[in-house]
Parts: sequence; structure tokens; C-alpha cells
Amino acid sequence: PDAGPGPAWQSKCPWGAPSTTSISCSLADVMSEQLAKELQLEEENAAFPEVVAAAEGPFITGENIDTSSDLMLAQMLQMEFDREYDAQLRREEKKINGDSKVSISFENYRKVHPYDSDSSEDEVDWQDTRHDPYRADKPTTTPRRGFIGKGKDITTKHDEVVCGRKNTARMENFAPEFQVGDGIGMDLKLSNQVFNALKQHAYSEERRSARLHEKKEHSTAEKAVDPKTRLLLYKMVNSGMLETITGCISTGKESVVFHAYGGKSATEDKVIPPECAIKVFKTTLNEFKNRDKYIKDDYRFKDRFSKLNPRKIIRMWAEKEMHNLTRMQNAGIPCPQVVILKKHVLVMSFIGQDQVPAPKLKDVTLSNEDMKKAYYQILNMMQQLYRECNLVHADLSEYNMLWHDGKVWLIDVSQSVEPTHPHGLEFLFRDCRNVSQFFQKGGVAEALNERELFNAVSGLNITADNEVDFQAEIEALEKMNEDHVQNHGKKLSTFSSDGDPPIYDE
Ligand code: ADP
Ligand code: MN
Repeated sequence: PDAGPGPAWQSKCPWGAPSTTSISCSLADVMSEQLAKELQLEEENAAFPEVVAAAEGPFITGENIDTSSDLMLAQMLQMEFDREYDAQLRREEKKINGDSKVSISFENYRKVHPYDSDSSEDEVDWQDTRHDPYRADKPTTTPRRGFIGKGKDITTKHDEVVCGRKNTARMENFAPEFQVGDGIGMDLKLSNQVFNALKQHAYSEERRSARLHEKKEHSTAEKAVDPKTRLLLYKMVNSGMLETITGCISTGKESVVFHAYGGKSATEDKVIPPECAIKVFKTTLNEFKNRDKYIKDDYRFKDRFSKLNPRKIIRMWAEKEMHNLTRMQNAGIPCPQVVILKKHVLVMSFIGQDQVPAPKLKDVTLSNEDMKKAYYQILNMMQQLYRECNLVHADLSEYNMLWHDGKVWLIDVSQSVEPTHPHGLEFLFRDCRNVSQFFQKGGVAEALNERELFNAVSGLNITADNEVDFQAEIEALEKMNEDHVQNHGKKLSTFSSDGDPPIYDE
């Protein structure tokens, strides 16, 4: 305002009247954005109360629920978009090429890439401890100078034209489905007000479609896993590797197992089984603590253990299960076949049919004949496991054996160790006890007792005729092996006297 007759304080003011500063981005604008968001949220809460509740419930991670799921949804949407984009590309490619002998490939313009050529973030590289894909991205510090130019040519970010152009450019960041028209290609200047309105609309659209998505896609079973795992699973379906994930088969302390129908493999040489089991190793750590000893003393993982963070250790369980299953597969032991390992998620063939998993040995009633057959098969498998795979199951019992197709299938081998593991023989003895007790109770007269079974499997000849002495001899053998390691820096290749080297050497 001009100086002149005004309030008394103004004319008396020794510093004169304050000059006007034009505020191009008013507080009201800033506030209205926030207000609009709040109003929108209120409105939506009123419109879809039950959906909102569901959207808040499913994740077990606890911290940062909204952010992480928003990120996930954004990524899901992006993948969906990419896939549609590719489908359109293929249609165009087909149209252009027609019956022509010479064809043009649009391959390079594709967005979805075969599952295995994923970003390096997904590579399972256990040696690389520098890069932890689970670590949250560092917040990027984009220098916001707020002005460009020098001296009197300075242009602040509030300059209307610059600001307008920036707003137009920012529209690109809206969700892919959001139709922004072709303003991006033109020199279109959006005022803050228009931009904010558009942004609001884009957000609410995004949220709405995310909600619909949430409702439609996610069965209760999938809610048992955290958003990162869900994204991983979603990717597997999205890449076509899996057809559908139908539901949860088992929720254990350490893992959740899902059933899925297999899809198409990205590579020709690999065939995805028609039905798959997806074992998700739980990323909550508590239950894993007491299993340290299985992996800590496994020399195959020795060098890595100390350097790893807990998440990596969990991924190592999955890796271990994969390696062990592969060994068993190679030896011809009936067990799930590995399809793929991604982080802490292991996909394998499904033992069972039409979504019904094969029953555990503890849950089936076998005829005497089948019981006997099962016993001899297991005796055989234990020997094969020990001699050909150089492994001890270490959690063998009627809980981890499935009855399918008239035979026994071994599962759950993430904790399996080599016989020369510092506690390997103890684990074997425990396995033998479980097996022997189960079949003796089950009425198999031929079943060896635990000590006989131990000798039959290991090829050792421990003569103690009672449990306590037997156990002591086992521990003495383990001690001997450890001393050997101390003195010679390496393990005995095997305990048995026949001198067979282990088949696998990792
Ligand atoms: P946990 O460590 O939780 O015991 P398991 O590997 O034993 O993990 O899997 C838990 C349950 O899931 C099994 O008892 C079995 O019923 C089911 N399951 C696991 N893998 C398969 C598979 N490949 N096919 C069918 N069912 C499976
Ligand atoms: Mn199990």
C-alpha cells in the first residue's frame, strides 16, 4: 500500500511501510492440497468402509505398513501396465508383419522381460554381501536449489512459466493408467491449482484401482506373507511362470507353503510342473534362532555365515533346501523337484494332485503290506541320502515323509547337513530313532532298532548295545573328526571305512 493517511502506527513507523511481496504459491494452495487429500480420504472411508479395513489388515510386517504396501501396489500396477503394453506391442508387430517374409521385431521395445533376466536386485548372489536387496533405498537427496540463473536473470521456482512446464512434466509420474492426454508433448503450462487438482484425481484413481485390485486378487492365504514376498509371488505369476497361486497348504513355524498351478517357462529347455508347491521361508527371525547350529557348523556355509545379516541367513535356508533337493533328485530319491529359487522363496514340484497335497506318513493308514514296503523304501532312501548325496536329513520323521503314488517322498530338507557336520551323526541317530519307532509301533516286525538302523545307514560299526554308550561313541567320532579338522585344516571325506569320497564337493 502507498504511504498516506493510514493507521497511526504506519505513519509513525520509523522503518516505513512494508513493501508488497507477491506470493505466487500461497499458503492456501499448499493447505488446500492437504485438505483435499483429507477430504478425499474421508469420502472414501465413508464409501468403502469394509474395503479400507481389509486393506489395512493383511500385512504382518508391522512397521511402515502403508508405505511398503503402496510401493508394492505401485510396482504391481507398473508390471500390469508393462504386460498390457507388451501385448499391444505384439498385436502391432503382428499387424505390421502380416504374411510378409521379412518381419520386423519389436522385441527391443518390450517392457516385461523373462523372469530370469530380471534386474540384478533379484539375482541370488550369496557371496555379494555388499548389496543387500532388502535394505531400504537411501533417501535420495535431490538438490533443490529453487532457482536457476544468475544475478538479475534469476528465475525462481515460483516463476509461472517454469512452474507450469514443470507441472506438465510431473504428470508423467502419475500412475500409468491415468490418462494425461498429450500435454506432455506440447509446451503446456499447468497452473499449480490445475496441477494439484489433477494430482489429487490421479491419486484417488490410483487408490481406487488398487483397492479393487486388492479385493479381487488377494485371498486370505496370501495375507500370511509380507508385502515383499507377495510382490515376489506376484512377479512369478505375472511373468507367466506360474498360472495361479491357489492357496495355502501349510503354515509352519518356519515356512508357509502354497499351492500353485505351473505356467510357462521363459526358457524352452525348462518345464514347469503342472502343479507347484511354493515354500516361503518366514522372514520373521525368532524361530530361526534355535536352528543356528544346523547351518553355523555346516562347513559349506561357514565362510559366509559370519558376514551375513539375518535376512541373508533365511535366504540361505532356502538355498540349502534347494541344493539338498537337487542332490536327492540326482540320486533318484523321490522328492520335490526344484523349479526356481528367488530370495527366500523356493518353488518346487507339488507332491499330490488337484491341489490336494499327499498326506504325511503320520496321517495315512497303510495296509501291513504297504507299511512294510514303506519301511524298506525309507531304509534304502536313508542309505542313498547318506552315501550318494552325502547328507543326513536331520529332521526325518513321519511328519516329513509324504505318501504319494504308492511310495514315500522325502520333503523338508532345509536343515539337512553333511555327515561330517559336527553334529551330523547325532542328527542321523535321531532320524533313525524316529523312523525305527514309527515302524515298530506300526507293526513292521522286520524294522531294525535305532542302533542297527544307524549302522546300516552309515556303514559304521558301533557295537554298543545300549543307547547311552552308543550315543557316547557317536560323539567320540564327531570329536575325532573335529580334531582332524583342527590339525589338518580339512574334514575327513567320510566316516566310513570304505573310503568312498563324497560325491558332491561344494
Ligand atoms: P516346515 O519346515 O514348515 O515343516 P515343510 O517343507 O515340511 O516345511 O512343508 C510343510 C508342509 O507343506 C508339509 O508337511 C507338506 O504337507 C506341505 N508340503 C511341503 N512341500 C510340499 C510339496 N512339494 N508338495 C506337497 N506338499 C508339500
Ligand atoms: Mn516339515
